[in-house]
Amino acid sequence: MADFYDAIIIGSGPAGLTAALYLGRAGQKCIILEKEFPGGYTAKISDIENYPGYEEISGFDLTNIMAKQAEKFGATIAYPVEVVDMELRGDTKSVRTRDAVYESHVVIIAIGVARKKLEVPGAKEFLGKGVSYCATCDGAFFKGRKLAVVGSDDEAAEEALHLADLAEKVTLVPHKDVEIIDVLMQRMKAKKNIEILPVTKVKEIVGDELVTGLKIARDGSEQVLPLEGVFIAMGSTPISQLIMKAGGQTDERGCLITDKHQRMNLEGVFAAGDCTCGGMQIVTAAGEGAVAGMRAASEVRKIKAKK
Ligand SMILES: Cc1cc2nc3c(=O)[nH]c(=O)nc-3n(C[C@H](O)[C@H](O)[C@H](O)COP(=O)(O)OP(=O)(O)OC[C@H]3O[C@@H](n4cnc5c(N)ncnc54)[C@H](O)[C@@H]3O)c2cc1C
Repeated sequence: MADFYDAIIIGSGPAGLTAALYLGRAGQKCIILEKEFPGGYTAKISDIENYPGYEEISGFDLTNIMAKQAEKFGATIAYPVEVVDMELRGDTKSVRTRDAVYESHVVIIAIGVARKKLEVPGAKEFLGKGVSYCATCDGAFFKGRKLAVVGSDDEAAEEALHLADLAEKVTLVPHKDVEIIDVLMQRMKAKKNIEILPVTKVKEIVGDELVTGLKIARDGSEQVLPLEGVFIAMGSTPISQLIMKAGGQTDERGCLITDKHQRMNLEGVFAAGDCTCGGMQIVTAAGEGAVAGMRAASEVRKIKAKK
């Protein structure tokens, strides 16, 4: 028989953890199902300076506090368990992982987004052999090396800044027009070992066993930058297939559609955080998680009152 909860939350980033805190404090029994490690993408960020209440904190520490706070009010965090299927239409929601089935009155989807892949020869072949999608996770393997970061926005700047403290040189290779906030741009310019190229087309990641260079094209000519690591930070894309299969509505980009109470088109189903393509920040994910948690708790109360 499936385990029954008042609420199932999918994803344990700031959105899921905050929803769990609100449900727990409202006395509702909830479980978070997380496919990797508690904390979501935030747990991988080394320095956070824009979460109110903390002048500076690591993502790991911040989400650790959030997880403890949710658990203090009774939430269970199950990991690593990947949700692979859902039945969201009836009064009882059913959520399937690879090994178990969970049931609940309501479901909150807080699955974040997936990183955009670089689609050039070598990107897949050298993944883990010099190609990475996470500077905080893999930067330490590249101490004293020459590196490139492919990307054009704040995420790419954060990755370059993190790597600049470890590497001999970091070249930022913008794949489209640069959109980086002033404070990050100034910090990059202040680093002697960061070079920022103009908009550049990446043609190939080259190497033997490991990465040895990045082939780029600009102004009609090609060149290979000799380097040992390529970090890809080209933004993110929604993960919507699982939700669409279960009848959840998304927009043309794949972002989950909600009303101002974070309710989706299916009764008893909510979405919060980056998967709705809102502010794409920790504080906005936590905010949406709080709204979803409060509203879900009130719906659970009504369902229980009818029984
Ligand atoms: C390089 C970088 C730097 C950043 N720096 C900052 C910053 O300084 N300040 C800031 O405010 N924001 C920053 N952000 C943005 C911030 O990380 C996100 O806005 C935030 O993590 C969103 O939280 P979330 O809960 O919506 O999703 P996430 O944190 O992405 O969590 C989603 C969770 O869902 C899980 N999941 C997904 N699918 C399934 C499934 N099928 N089954 C079970 N679990 C699943 C994932 O494993 C993940 O743990 C940064 C992002 C990047 C990429």
